[in-house]
Amino acid sequence: MTCHTWRQVLRKNFTRLSDIADFLELNESQRNCLAPSHFAMNVPFRLAQKMAKGTLDDPLARQFLPFKEEGIRNPAFVSDPVGDQLCRKSPKLLHKYEGRVLLVCTSACAMHCRYCFRQNFDYDVSDKLFAAELQVIKNDPSIHEVILSGGDPLSLSDDLLEYLLKEINEMPHINRLRFHTRFPVGIPERIDEGFLAVLSKFKKQIIFVLHVNHVNELDQEVIASIKLLQRAGCLTLNQSVLLKDVNDDPQTLIALCETLSDHGILPYYLHQLDRVQGTAHYEVSEDKGLALIAEISKFLPGYAVPKYVREIAGLPNKHLLF
Ligand code: SF4
Repeated sequence: MTCHTWRQVLRKNFTRLSDIADFLELNESQRNCLAPSHFAMNVPFRLAQKMAKGTLDDPLARQFLPFKEEGIRNPAFVSDPVGDQLCRKSPKLLHKYEGRVLLVCTSACAMHCRYCFRQNFDYDVSDKLFAAELQVIKNDPSIHEVILSGGDPLSLSDDLLEYLLKEINEMPHINRLRFHTRFPVGIPERIDEGFLAVLSKFKKQIIFVLHVNHVNELDQEVIASIKLLQRAGCLTLNQSVLLKDVNDDPQTLIALCETLSDHGILPYYLHQLDRVQGTAHYEVSEDKGLALIAEISKFLPGYAVPKYVREIAGLPNKHLLF
């Protein structure tokens, strides 16, 4: 499959509320529960196809449709809940934790998750070749891992990724490269021959941290694309966000962790929601989260139970809740 093909698939994303409301056959009162917000709607066609028709009570619709509650202001929910701005070392580089840096490669994503903690980030769109960021990484031997994030790093072209990986590959103190991506879930066509060829030239360990919140996001094509990454020698982990009416019940979490484990994807983190403005309707209390983890631990092998964590701005590591 060519690069052109995944871009064509991406162009089929729903970006107009009326279009997806028609597609999902929503009635007037359901449409009235939705409203556009500052964070544009962006839903891959394959995810819309998996949403139940005639209802908003669907775990994928809940994650990707803009509900009117996004307009409710709550002082506990802020613009930058994880303190990204506090650790910005250059326009596109965040240095939050010892030994690792995060490169905010792009503002573009394959989909817009309504609870995204980076929806207010003032992305720097100058200097597409990351000169300042690569210089900082090159000059700091304490850094051993580079995380490509965004946005979604797989939004970049293969040519740009190849350039970036080549630069990082040549830094002797960098041992690992990590991709944070949700592309395989929405546009699995992105894991194509061209991209795999780019990965094959990188001689150090590559880790993919995927983002799946509900088992309905996984299907044969999604799994097949992840298998391609595994066969290329990449470690595959998953992080989920605990979301009200999406995955806040034991059966849903067990089904997700079992299915991920069945396919060699380690359930790595379950994140407490980052308190970004307009997302209070997704919050599950920590007490409920703790009870959920205790319950699923009775049914899953230890490796399939994710660490339940909360990110607290300014801390040197994620705060382990369970
Ligand atoms: S894919 Fe990641 S960066 Fe993009 S909107 Fe979703 S959570 Fe945010």
